[in-house]
Amino acid sequence: MSEKPSALLLKWYDTVKRDLPWRRTKNPYHIWLSEIMLQQTRVETVKGYYARFLERCPTVEALASAPEETVLKLWEGLGYYSRARNLQKAVRTIVEDHGGVFPSDYDSILKLPGIGPYTAGAIASIAFGIPVPAVDGNVYRVASRFFGIREDVGIPAVQKQIRQLVQESIPADRPGDYNQALMELGATLCSPQRPDCESCPWAARCNACQEGDQDSLPIHEKKQAPKTMDVAVCLLTDENRVLVLPRKERMLKGLFVFWLTEEETAPANVQQLLAEDGLNCSFVGHLGNAKHVFTHRVWQMEILHFSLNHLPGEEWLQTHQARLVTAEELAQLPLPTAIKAAREKAMKLLRG
Ligand code: SF4
Repeated sequence: MSEKPSALLLKWYDTVKRDLPWRRTKNPYHIWLSEIMLQQTRVETVKGYYARFLERCPTVEALASAPEETVLKLWEGLGYYSRARNLQKAVRTIVEDHGGVFPSDYDSILKLPGIGPYTAGAIASIAFGIPVPAVDGNVYRVASRFFGIREDVGIPAVQKQIRQLVQESIPADRPGDYNQALMELGATLCSPQRPDCESCPWAARCNACQEGDQDSLPIHEKKQAPKTMDVAVCLLTDENRVLVLPRKERMLKGLFVFWLTEEETAPANVQQLLAEDGLNCSFVGHLGNAKHVFTHRVWQMEILHFSLNHLPGEEWLQTHQARLVTAEELAQLPLPTAIKAAREKAMKLLRG
């Protein structure tokens, strides 16, 4: 019977793995520290920091009780100081909620502040031998090639599928080594460009290598440039109130906004659209411009002021779930940031 891919990979890993200080321990706190330090920092640099840090704070308790200043000093030069602060925050949780004992199940590890699925997977599998995946960017690349996933890895459902496939491939006896072997493969042979498939233990089983499209995997669909829309945001006022209504459209759905349209910005045309919507208004003036960038859209806004010639009837207000609000009421309403500038203009208008 042919060997399982996991066995092939582990055999390779056993011959190439570097002897690193954090690979000689099963202490979850030490493994975690190395994982945090290795984010954005090279292995060679981390070695010295790791040793110095553990000399001063060898245990969870020692780190929990160390002054923040000391911890930041130990981190000096590594950058991204929030990593050190979060680390200390998390060990204090371990002391307070777990009596200083590092939690030994995946879900409890994942609940610690600052620990995401990747780090939780690495700690759980390496320190406790739990067969859970630890999938970072490198592993997404290796796995999408090996399993032949030809869909956009930016899609959460595709990422879930990859994590599931990795999960199913983990050997029960060496989950931590297997996860590290996958990371090592991604960091060395299975590089983003021109992977060295000839030297790879998985070459004969790798879907992408067999199909010859390893260079084009994983697939990252190019993000489309956001589309710019001209939007008229209309402040429709009576004496001391302005009209607000919840958005019906998908974007900002349900949030209170001013009457707005993506169809027109010229006041005369907007006035026509208002009339078609049952609102009898007169244009008062142009109050300024504002811009808001959403993920897929940019709103280039003209803020227009109209006075209501007739107050909308009760039926109209009910159908549109609209309200006429005073400055005080407007200040209490949770409006989206996108119309912050228009809200400020409205406050100014209403307060005179
Ligand atoms: S065979 Fe090539 S593409 Fe496949 S896992 Fe190995 S290095 Fe990556």
